[in-house]
Amino acid sequence: MKVSAIGEFGLIERIRSILPRPHGALLGIGDDCAALRPTAGADLLLTTDLLVEGVDFTPQTTTPFRLGRKAMGVNLSDIAAMGGLPRAALITVAMPPDEEVEFVDELYRGLREEGARFGVEIIGGDVSASPALMIGVTLVGEVEAGRAVTRSGAKPGELIWVTGRLGAAAAGLVALRAGCRLRDDQVEIPLEVSGPLREAIGQTVERHLCPLPRIREGRALAEAGAASAMIDLSDGLASDLVHLCRESGVSATIREDQIPIDQGASAIAQHFGQEPLALALQGGEDFELLFTSSWEPADIAAIFPDAGTVTAIGTVGDAGHGCRLERHDGTAIALTGGYDHFRNE
Ligand SMILES: [Mg+2]
Repeated sequence: MKVSAIGEFGLIERIRSILPRPHGALLGIGDDCAALRPTAGADLLLTTDLLVEGVDFTPQTTTPFRLGRKAMGVNLSDIAAMGGLPRAALITVAMPPDEEVEFVDELYRGLREEGARFGVEIIGGDVSASPALMIGVTLVGEVEAGRAVTRSGAKPGELIWVTGRLGAAAAGLVALRAGCRLRDDQVEIPLEVSGPLREAIGQTVERHLCPLPRIREGRALAEAGAASAMIDLSDGLASDLVHLCRESGVSATIREDQIPIDQGASAIAQHFGQEPLALALQGGEDFELLFTSSWEPADIAAIFPDAGTVTAIGTVGDAGHGCRLERHDGTAIALTGGYDHFRNE
C-alpha cells in the first residue's frame, strides 16, 4: 500500500500505533506540542541531524529498519559526545507519496528500537511530501548542570584518547561500493574472498549501516570529570581532531603506531588496495569518541577496565602548530579536512 492511499493523517495514526505511549514525557504525540519536564539540576542538550536520500544514504544498500536505527544512532552519538543521557526525540520524515506504508512502518520500528536501547522516547514530529526521502531526528538529552563536555576545553600537555577501533564504518562502505549488498537483511558478498575476510565484510557493513553510540563511555567520562574536551567521530579522526583543536585553540600531534585500527577494516583495505590508515583517519562515521584529558593513563584505564575500550593516540600542543600525524618513519604530515557536504570532492 502506498502512503498516498492513507494520507497524512492516516500515516500519523499508523506511526502513533507503532510507538509506545511515553512514560517519562508528560505529553507525547497527539497534542500541539510534546511536553517534557527537565530533571532537577540538569542542563538540556539539544541536537538534530538530517539524513537525505542520495546524499547521506542510498535505499538500495540498507533496509528501512536499519535506516531508522542509524538516524537515531547518529544523534545519540552527539549526546554521548557531550557526556549526556538521551531522553526524547522528535522525528520529521518527508517522502514521495508513492512510498510504501510498510517502508515507513519499518523505519519507525528502527527509530523506536535504537532509541529504546538508550531510554529514548519518541514524543512527536512531522510528516510531509518530498521528491526524496528525508529523515530528521531532533534529540533531547540531559547532563548534570555545568558538566557538559564541550569541544573547547583541551589544554596543552594533555593526552588525546579515542574509544574503540577506527575504520570499520569506512571499510563497510568500501565493501558496499565493491558490490556487497543487503538481501533479506543478510550481507551478500558476491566476491571471491576468504572466510575471515567474508566475516570482516559482514561486520564492517553492519557498522556502516548501524553505528554503536558510545553513550555509556561518554557518561562515564562526564561523571568522573575526566575529559577536558570531547567530540564524536562523524567526519573522520583527522577532521574531527581539527574541529576539537580549533574550538580549544590548541594544536595536536597523534602517532600512527598508536592509532587503533579495526582489524577487519585493515584486512578489507588491503584486499581492495587501500591504506588502512586512510580509512581510520578520513573514513568517518565511526561514531567513536575522541577526548582529551589531563589524567594519568592509569586513572583513565581505571574508568574503563575492559582492555581496548580507550587508547591514547597523542598529545595536545600549544596553539599555532595545527594538527599533525607522526608516521612510523618519524616524518610528520599535516592533518586537514574530512567530509564536507558543500564541497566538491
Ligand atoms: Mg558530533
